[in-house]
Amino acid sequence: MTSVTFQDLGLAEPILHALIAEKHETPTPIQAQAIPEVMAGKDLLGLAQTGTGKTAAFTLPILHRLVDMPRQMTPKTAHVLILAPTRELAVQIGERTQAYGKNMRLKQAIILGGVSQYRQVQALARGVDILIATPGRLLDLINQRHLRLDQTSILILDEADRMFDMGFIHKVRQIVSMMPQQRQTLLFSATMPPDISKLAQEILRDPVRIEVASTQVTADRIEQGLYYVDTKDKKSLLIDMLNNDEEMKRVIVFTRTKHGADRITEQLMKAGVDTDVIHGDKSQNARQRSLDNFRTGRVRVLVATDIAARGIDVNNITHVVNFELPPEAESYVHRIGRTARAGSE
Ligand code: AMP
Repeated sequence: MTSVTFQDLGLAEPILHALIAEKHETPTPIQAQAIPEVMAGKDLLGLAQTGTGKTAAFTLPILHRLVDMPRQMTPKTAHVLILAPTRELAVQIGERTQAYGKNMRLKQAIILGGVSQYRQVQALARGVDILIATPGRLLDLINQRHLRLDQTSILILDEADRMFDMGFIHKVRQIVSMMPQQRQTLLFSATMPPDISKLAQEILRDPVRIEVASTQVTADRIEQGLYYVDTKDKKSLLIDMLNNDEEMKRVIVFTRTKHGADRITEQLMKAGVDTDVIHGDKSQNARQRSLDNFRTGRVRVLVATDIAARGIDVNNITHVVNFELPPEAESYVHRIGRTARAGSE
């Protein structure tokens, strides 16, 4: 946390009030750095992971800009577009903009695949202030002429590296090419591989670069343990731990594959542990339901694959189990970062 306050940053009253309601007392480092720049209309390149407060770092100043903007609604357009790689992340960003913008008159829509497009088309019909979308469905709706982007003056790309991993970069470029040249663009990424750096050069104009070292900060508050165990004994060890350790109140178990996720879920259930699962083969509704069950404590364990778990923001997760090691070190950091969020350990 930093010594500046949200008032110091000059955010508009309705937003400051919402922040009090959200119990966000002081800006995180990325917020303290990014908010004034974005309020001033600058482009931004943000190197930050989830858990750093990056979502508020872009939503707060964008909401502030909307307070002052003349906002006539043109049918089938949006003032601000936020692109996210996964449906879960899009939903979470939508929850944040709604919470921070609750004292403003805002029209917002979320566009994502895997669900019927009917309501999404309706939501766009009269135009929106903020549109949060995953790239595939967004392009679908544009191609069907339910939306155009020629009046969208603010673009935010969240988790750009993951967009790349998921094969969305071509779609992202297509989407950007439909937007006005005169716009404000923010790009957030946890890592900066050459492709993302190239994309940033193409789409950002004289950006301010902000980097927050979240990896170490997060890991400081996470105690890590390693168990040497034969593959065949992993399942019984996990069940034993869950049966004997009352501290394991809200647990995410990561597997590498969807099949593995289903199998361990079944085995935990058989052992009497309340468990739900999320992975890429589940429908959007099923994933949301599992996440809600986990969030509200109806189930104690959530089994997940890396992509499905991307951006999961559930408070008070006590333990993360790497039932199978992830293929890259970075995924490990992401996985363990599901715990020790927002100041907890
Ligand atoms: P993010 O990095 O955007 O995924 O945010 C991580 C978590 O921190 C979310 O649960 C936010 O609601 C929370 N958060 C963001 N900014 C603040 C703040 N300034 N004070 C307290 N919590 C915050």
